[in-house]
Amino acid sequence: MRVSVILPAAGLGTRMSPGHSTHAAPKQFLELAGTPILIRTLEAFAGVPEISEFIVAVRATEMERLTAHIFEHGFAERVRVVEGGDSRQESVRNALNTLECGDEDIVLIHDAVRPLIEPAVIRRVIEAVVKHSAAIVGLPALDTIKQVERTADGAIITATIPREYIVQAQTPQGFRCGLLRRAFAEAEADGFVGTDEASVVERAGSAVFVVPGSPSNLKITQPGDLELAEFYLAQRANAHASQS
Ligand code: C5P
Repeated sequence: MRVSVILPAAGLGTRMSPGHSTHAAPKQFLELAGTPILIRTLEAFAGVPEISEFIVAVRATEMERLTAHIFEHGFAERVRVVEGGDSRQESVRNALNTLECGDEDIVLIHDAVRPLIEPAVIRRVIEAVVKHSAAIVGLPALDTIKQVERTADGAIITATIPREYIVQAQTPQGFRCGLLRRAFAEAEADGFVGTDEASVVERAGSAVFVVPGSPSNLKITQPGDLELAEFYLAQRANAHASQS
């Protein structure tokens, strides 16, 4: 059983601050404690020996920069780079199209900008996919969740959704390769574009299981997230130091 990892990294990072101009460095290339975020993400997955290869989808204009980072950090043999698309789904589809996998092999998709994923959580997703064919990391909601209707005057609550019915979807999201390919083909035929892979597989009628995640697996998206990620990293380093 092969396990491949797709890292969509072709976003423009427009929600980061103007100081982090997307032209200078899209967020996946910003440095987290001295190392590009994308490389930190690869390092986290490199801690899981079951994984055989990585495919990173980036904008055509970033291919050269990414390839240089990959060489510099010793990942050249295990990482392939493909061109991303206009949506996250298109980026993943482009990567999936280049992947040689059997129906029973496993594909994990992980946001390139979630560098603090823990190898133990990645392993739990793989185990859940072996058992159930589809699984994602999800974080129980702590806030009360409201459904709203957007109006010109602002949002108006239309319902309160009980918290026990809610998890916030994170990544990795893992699937048997055959299932993922079929679900992507159906979505493409119907013109459906989801914001994650689970939504594509759900609409194909398959049950997707949830593995508990942690708040530290944050998606570096907006100003302040990089500082928060640095804080979590420092906390981990302190925990390691006090254990040894
Ligand atoms: O935009 P969002 O926060 O959902 O991005 C999640 C991940 O998907 C990021 O790693 C981003 O680079 C990637 N992405 C992509 N291609 C796009 C848009 C987003 O690979 N067109």
